[in-house]
Amino acid sequence: MCAGAISDTLFNNLTNLNVVIPENVLKDKVTGYFMHLKGETGLIAVDPSISIYTVFRSAGPVLSAEKTRGFDQVLLDHAIKEGVRFVNQRVKKVIAGTKEKISLIFGEDEKEWEGDLLVGAFGVNSRIGEKLASGYKPPKCWSACQTEIEVPEDFSERTIRNKIHIFSTDHPNIKYIAFTPKGNVITVTAIGKNVKRVDVENALKEEAISSYLPVNYSCKCHCHPKIPVTIARNPFSDRFVIIGDAAASRYLKNGIESAFFTSEWAASAALHHGLSSDDFKNHYYNRCLKVFSRDNIYGKILFGIYDIFGNSGTISRININIIRGEQEKSHDSKILSSVILHLFTGDAPYARILREAFRPKLFVSFIKESFRSRHAR
Ligand SMILES: Cc1cc2nc3c(=O)[nH]c(=O)nc-3n(C[C@H](O)[C@H](O)[C@H](O)COP(=O)(O)OP(=O)(O)OC[C@H]3O[C@@H](n4cnc5c(N)ncnc54)[C@H](O)[C@@H]3O)c2cc1C
Repeated sequence: MCAGAISDTLFNNLTNLNVVIPENVLKDKVTGYFMHLKGETGLIAVDPSISIYTVFRSAGPVLSAEKTRGFDQVLLDHAIKEGVRFVNQRVKKVIAGTKEKISLIFGEDEKEWEGDLLVGAFGVNSRIGEKLASGYKPPKCWSACQTEIEVPEDFSERTIRNKIHIFSTDHPNIKYIAFTPKGNVITVTAIGKNVKRVDVENALKEEAISSYLPVNYSCKCHCHPKIPVTIARNPFSDRFVIIGDAAASRYLKNGIESAFFTSEWAASAALHHGLSSDDFKNHYYNRCLKVFSRDNIYGKILFGIYDIFGNSGTISRININIIRGEQEKSHDSKILSSVILHLFTGDAPYARILREAFRPKLFVSFIKESFRSRHAR
């Protein structure tokens, strides 16, 4: 249900909290992004000092022989070590909080839990959010599609090369396809409003994409996770606060990191201000809106531009040529590479990336490259 790319900031923030992710959970360190636009390919290298790792959120692909401890289990084990009691049961119903307490019903035998504060970290793939009586409106979501493909080790070393591969596709339902390397497994993620399994199967047959897969590959499993594209309304009430995807996240990128931040802000609001609806509104939700809502609009503009450019063969060719030229330079300004890298690693606010994308120098490179490629033909 997730591509499992862990950003540099998230990795460092977890390290600062003494959450050690064991080496066997970190499947690959990403050394670059291959951009495949309309059959043209450009590589954008990631600075070696930046740690972008890939992980399986759970134990690995459903039908795979190799089962490992996943990233979420590491987080859960850490929480348990810190004193958390883990009850592996489904929450059935939340009973609205009062000034004194909040409670919920859980498990098959419908037990009741009562406490001081309830934190909803149920994501967007759960229906529990629909049953809340607190005026909560979940974020609007797209339905993505993912599949996992096992590849021989030498294929991975030769073709995937510890890089994330981003492909444009001719399929109208898919905005882009990403290959995330995890040792001898590739996680294929297709992003779009409503991507079906058959859409992904067809897109993977396109020559520009199939040449990055073994000849007789098979998909180990597939899933249709939802991905939020707006921010929830009222993810709080008295003694109840909702965090993670179900509350607010960065548009299309770094959802795990957004979950990290929203949980930190919610904890800070509860500890430093109080547990009332107003406390969470003023000191938690407003902070989510401040960080995400406007920046996500810039994100939508950027991905919109990327979409339009990615659909044009001519513009794609020009952009890939600019990237190739920039990558040959040692440390001169690599504006387009940096814009695309930030867009896909999600390691800078969208507002900053948009400003960078509109730098006159990039516009000049674009004009020069279009003249150059017109004369070269
Ligand atoms: C296709 C795709 C690719 C992605 N790739 C990346 C990526 O590479 N990097 C990244 O940072 N982010 C990525 N994301 C985003 C990331 O997966 C989410 O932002 C992140 O998982 C949100 O965390 P969360 O804790 O809010 O929700 P979730 O991770 O969805 O966790 C919710 C948990 O609540 C549990 N739950 C739900 N309902 C109940 C209930 N009633 N009772 C008990 N438990 C319940 C669920 O079982 C689940 O364990 C991707 C998302 C998609 C859709």
